[in-house]
Amino acid sequence: MTATEDSSMATHALVQAALAVAEHSYSPYSGFRVGAALLLATGEIVTGTNVENVSYGLTICAERSALVRAVAEFGPGIRITGVAIVNLNDAPSPPCGACRQVLAEFIDPDAPVTFPAERSGSVAAITLPFHELLPFGFDLKLK
Ligand code: ZN
Repeated sequence: MTATEDSSMATHALVQAALAVAEHSYSPYSGFRVGAALLLATGEIVTGTNVENVSYGLTICAERSALVRAVAEFGPGIRITGVAIVNLNDAPSPPCGACRQVLAEFIDPDAPVTFPAERSGSVAAITLPFHELLPFGFDLKLK
């Protein structure tokens, strides 16, 4: 098996896991049903879905819910080596700015991130390395 085939199989597994968890979305206000799956360096896959709140501002995205779950289950030393984001609305859903910054704390810069994006008028999954999604993320280095 080539590295590309191995990576493709990993992405497929992540997308399938994200699709399954999107069914659990709590999104009574928007109807936007999102799932995210994280591949950890240990090979574990951890999923999350969006959980909305009547106050709107307290809503948490699928990506952050997966990340919080991963830390809770596997501890603060986790490293993320791949991410898939899907939705059941056939809409573009790149990770929001907040999720990018939160993922940056635990993700390898070259980790592939797959998400639905609009290209030429239709929605299709694209994959980019994380560092292209957040090229100048906040980092704290005090002197
Ligand atoms: Zn988000």
